[in-house]
Amino acid sequence: MKAEIICVGTEILMGNIVNTNAAYIAEGLAGLGISCFYQSVVGDNDSRLREIFDEASERADIIILSGGLGPTEDDLTKETVARAMDRELVLDERAWEEIQVYFEKRHLKLTDNNKKQAYVPDGAKVLYNKNGTAPGIILESGKVTAILLPGPPGELIPMWDRQVVPYLRELSGEVFYSETVKVCGMGESLVETELKDLIDAQINPTIATYAKIGEVHIRVTAGASGKKEAKKLVKPVTAEIKKRFGARVFTTDENVTLEESVISLLKEKGFTLSTAESLTGGMLAGRIINVPGASEVINTGFITYSDKSKRKLLGVKKSTFWKYGAVSAKCAKRMAKGCASAAGADAAVSLTGVAGPGGGTDKKPVGLTYIGVCVKGRIRVKKYLFSGNRMKIRESAVAAALTLLRKCLLEDEL
Ligand code: ATP
Ligand code: MG
Repeated sequence: MKAEIICVGTEILMGNIVNTNAAYIAEGLAGLGISCFYQSVVGDNDSRLREIFDEASERADIIILSGGLGPTEDDLTKETVARAMDRELVLDERAWEEIQVYFEKRHLKLTDNNKKQAYVPDGAKVLYNKNGTAPGIILESGKVTAILLPGPPGELIPMWDRQVVPYLRELSGEVFYSETVKVCGMGESLVETELKDLIDAQINPTIATYAKIGEVHIRVTAGASGKKEAKKLVKPVTAEIKKRFGARVFTTDENVTLEESVISLLKEKGFTLSTAESLTGGMLAGRIINVPGASEVINTGFITYSDKSKRKLLGVKKSTFWKYGAVSAKCAKRMAKGCASAAGADAAVSLTGVAGPGGGTDKKPVGLTYIGVCVKGRIRVKKYLFSGNRMKIRESAVAAALTLLRKCLLEDEL
């Protein structure tokens, strides 16, 4: 089954709003195992919408449209699609009733054009809208099914989750099950190379990789007549992926993040953690503290941006700076050691680097970063060269720090 997405709205076309609806719907379709080969954006214009709708009807079984269901003149999605599918608009009594109640509850004055929203194409399935006034619409012809959804994400998302997903699931007649294997410390191209034979051979289940900063997520999805059967198809593939990546797999739970997996490891060992950050300025501590229950492991975080603060708070020696510089393996080592002892923590992580865009030299280019990890007095330092803008370099450094800490905790049989 093939689907296509059309987002209607001049605001999206002009770049005034970001097309988050398309991303949400596309991800939902992928999760359902429904292929989506085209997405389009079109302004609030009847003839151009008609043109793209007719084109999509030639290619797809399902066309999902977002936006343009409101009460105003420029909201024309329903009218255009009804004409394209040769249907009259008829008043839906329940939708009209709900619109009146919606207005009454909010003490708003109904205008004539609000009634327009209660008109639906003849023979449509109506998706009633608890979060707004425009109902969604499913319109089936023998050939194609159009699904019309309101533009505001606060209305579209619950309608999609609660009404459209169950409908599509039934329509496809298949149940989909997926598992995600998350790996850290390797890039997407390396992951794909190591999985090449599996990816080349994929039919059902399918294997998709998603690159995040410092992580790659591998989603394995199978479709079958029931959940049990689909699970049976997925399990051996995820087991094989886990075997290939070994300790680089930090979770197989879609909802678990890298920082959560590190916190779990620290908790298992009963270790406390402290951080000493230069270029990341608290981003590492922030990511860790974002996790509920982080207080059980993290005790102190230092933001030591200047040389002076590295000396004063972490005890880095003056000579370290003039001999090696602040961005050096030696400095990262002393920072990690000093951080652990100043905080009285079992484990400490330090980061020092050149975030850019200025400040780089031939010897120490932008992106050069040293990360130190100290676990129970044993110290390890690793050198990195990250690329991208300042933010990307800093985010990469945080992900690398979590990965290195995790590695040291796993390897250190303390
Ligand atoms: P309304 O009844 O609010 O007019 P509508 O169904 O007619 O709803 P639009 O008028 O197209 O929808 O869009 C209303 C608002 O919804 C936009 O101003 C925007 O904030 C949001 N929106 C619309 N389309 C998208 C989209 N593709 N992605 C994210 N937000 C969107
Ligand atoms: Mg509108």
